[in-house]
Amino acid sequence: MFGKGLIKGLEITWGWLFRKKVTVEYPDKKIVMSPRYHGRFELDQDKCIACGLCANACPNKVIQLEKTKLGKKQILLKYVMRIEYCLFCGYCVEACNKDALKFSSVIDMNQYFRDKVRLTLVDRPAPTPEEIAAAEAEEAAKAAAAQAAAAKAKAKGEEG
Ligand code: SF4
Ligand code: SF4
Repeated sequence: MFGKGLIKGLEITWGWLFRKKVTVEYPDKKIVMSPRYHGRFELDQDKCIACGLCANACPNKVIQLEKTKLGKKQILLKYVMRIEYCLFCGYCVEACNKDALKFSSVIDMNQYFRDKVRLTLVDRPAPTPEEIAAAEAEEAAKAAAAQAAAAKAKAKGEEG
């Protein structure tokens, strides 16, 4: 019985010895991750409208965001993810209807210290009073132009 088991074991070992290796010598070599892999998060701040849907969808309250108004628009000031509590479930990515929040295929997120794990995707200063005034002036100019165009179209319609 002992001899038979040993031979069977050696048979399996020798069989695997000549097969193609499925492991790679990480971190010197890396495998290509699937496009659907849930790696490090990426945020396109130009697409983000600071609606907070992603934060509301998160079961672990991982996402913390700060926003402000610039004219009529809401802009993101800070977007921080407490990755140490993240399940990588993807609910936040699914909730984002602006396609702003995505997973990347980056897997290297390890840190020596817990406080360094936190992921800050956006951290920018609040707009200055000049920037706010410029945004408001631009919106007012756009509204006036739209009003003028509507009045012109109406006058044309009455003429005809
Ligand atoms: S992947 Fe899941 S747990 Fe992580 S931030 Fe998104 S919703 Fe929250
Ligand atoms: S990432 Fe998407 S869901 Fe989250 S605040 Fe920005 S636009 Fe809204």
